[in-house]
Amino acid sequence: MSAPAIPAAGRPRVSVTEVGTRDGFQAEPVFIATGIKAQVIDALVGAGVRAIEATSFVSPKAVPQLADAADLLARIARRPDLRIAALVPNARGAERALAAGVDEMVAFVSASETHNQRNLNASIERSLANVAELASVAAGHPVALRGAVACAFGCPFEGDVAVDALLRVIDGYASLGIDRYTLGDTTGMATPPVVERAVRAIRDRHPAVPIALHFHNTRGVGLANVLVGLGLGVREFESSIGGLGGCPFAPGATGNVCTEDLVYLLEESGYDTGIDLAALVAVAKTVEAVIGRTLPGQVMKAGPRLALHDPDSVRRATG
Ligand code: ZN
Repeated sequence: MSAPAIPAAGRPRVSVTEVGTRDGFQAEPVFIATGIKAQVIDALVGAGVRAIEATSFVSPKAVPQLADAADLLARIARRPDLRIAALVPNARGAERALAAGVDEMVAFVSASETHNQRNLNASIERSLANVAELASVAAGHPVALRGAVACAFGCPFEGDVAVDALLRVIDGYASLGIDRYTLGDTTGMATPPVVERAVRAIRDRHPAVPIALHFHNTRGVGLANVLVGLGLGVREFESSIGGLGGCPFAPGATGNVCTEDLVYLLEESGYDTGIDLAALVAVAKTVEAVIGRTLPGQVMKAGPRLALHDPDSVRRATG
């Protein structure tokens, strides 16, 4: 059912980073047991996912849902071709993340001053200074550093985010030697032209650095934004299984772009993700059962388009 129509050889590779156990579970009202989180991650790896933002080393008081970060990392079956990343806010978090053995630390600063103040309790300048301290903790250790920009495409307090504001954070990362970036659509405000403007501006300034795009489907245009990124040569996207996650300013709003839907789109569009869609859908259904409510993923409900049905088993309808 999941065998791709075109062989993987020769198809452009696109990397999908799963963020559900971090971005998704942190938005859940209840604590998901560490053992379940580890099972979900192991099942995702079994489906072929090779990049996972597993958790966050922020203050356990601030985000109690992720207070088990070190314990979780100890329980994940590691392998050399698997990149386990974690969000890290400062030097203290970096020390905890190093001790827990992360492969990649993800620093984060908002492109919006107001959002950064509300989210991190600091100015953008102060947050970049924290990232500098974090980077010096990481220096000399076998760990990669990534710079994420929150509210890269819009801020719920300030509205549009100027390209200059985005570049200010990216330039701050670049000055610290951080050479891979994620642009985060924290509250789902990206649209195709906004994405194009942002990606082109960063490309013009830092042509060689890889950019990952992290979209939320809050307003239904998450995958449209992915297509724009693909057209601009972006080959790394972040998503969450089943579309886990939410928007803190819009109760009930949908969360991250859904991993199965993203993989379906990519594979059907001729890209190779290395991920087995059927296995991924099975993980999404397991996560849905754990969460206890319907998740927004579409392919997990309808199945891939070539999953055929018995003509006699379907009710007649037109529309
Ligand atoms: Zn997100």
